[in-house]
Amino acid sequence: MNFTVCSRGDDVSNVISKKIIKYLKEFELTYNPEKPDIVISVGGDGTLLEAFHQFTHRLAETSFVGVHTGHLGFYADWQPEEVEKLVIHIAKTPFKIVEYPLLEVIIRHHNNKKSERFLALNECSVKSTEGSLVMDIEIKGELFETFRGDGLCISTPSGSTAYNKALGGAILHPSLPSIQLAEMASINNRVYRTIGSPLVLPQHHTCLLKPNNDADFQVTIDHLTLLQQEVKSIQCRVAEEKVKFARFRPFPFWKRVKESFIAD
Ligand code: NAP
Repeated sequence: MNFTVCSRGDDVSNVISKKIIKYLKEFELTYNPEKPDIVISVGGDGTLLEAFHQFTHRLAETSFVGVHTGHLGFYADWQPEEVEKLVIHIAKTPFKIVEYPLLEVIIRHHNNKKSERFLALNECSVKSTEGSLVMDIEIKGELFETFRGDGLCISTPSGSTAYNKALGGAILHPSLPSIQLAEMASINNRVYRTIGSPLVLPQHHTCLLKPNNDADFQVTIDHLTLLQQEVKSIQCRVAEEKVKFARFRPFPFWKRVKESFIAD
């Protein structure tokens, strides 16, 4: 089996990464950063997001597992002192895989620029680079509302504990193939009106954001920030692809939520 290790790059993560590479090679696994069957990220959830984007072209063949060198993570749920145990589990393949839904984002432009397609593990956020964001929001081809405010966040279920949570969105279990649309400070008065509540859309319910003016936009896909000009529409829906996580022991999602946000 081929493996690779992605480190956050700090001293602690680098030492642990080297240890994992050494141990797995001793178990006769092949270190192959080009075509890994399993990617071990060492750092935090941010490191796993980066590892995910490095291998979006191989999602069908690649599984991910995360070791956290800071506080407990949502994606990185192994502790540094458990590395030997983790290595033995990885070496004893086949292992159990759980799949989480992803968000597909397609950005289309007014000029002849080719449309761009992205996959997000956490979310896509959209803000105007100048003034309020003004966008028509269509759901399944029907105008739902015209949004005016700071921005919009469209998240996956596993990303619902990240930016979405800070915006008052619900936490969704990753077994639900869905996306969530959360508002950032919408303007609501007698002239402008939005629903004001986060919306959870099932698979195949496409959400289309259409700018009402020719503003430039700051679009984020997880940790990546893009400047977008001459945007015709931003289309969001549950992706066909899923991300695979290697699971070696049960760690229920709600337990992770409790340990991260309520108490150890
Ligand atoms: P960052 O600003 O350095 O860190 C964002 C924080 O979010 C880190 O503590 C990270 O955990 C945590 N995180 C990432 N994914 C998570 C998840 N699915 N559930 C719970 N917590 C999660 O940025 P970054 O490390 O490059 O990560 C990018 C993410 O930052 C974006 O995808 C977005 O979700 C999040 N973000 C949050 C806010 C907010 O809460 N107000 C604002 C902007 C962006 P680790 O420390 O383990 O890496």
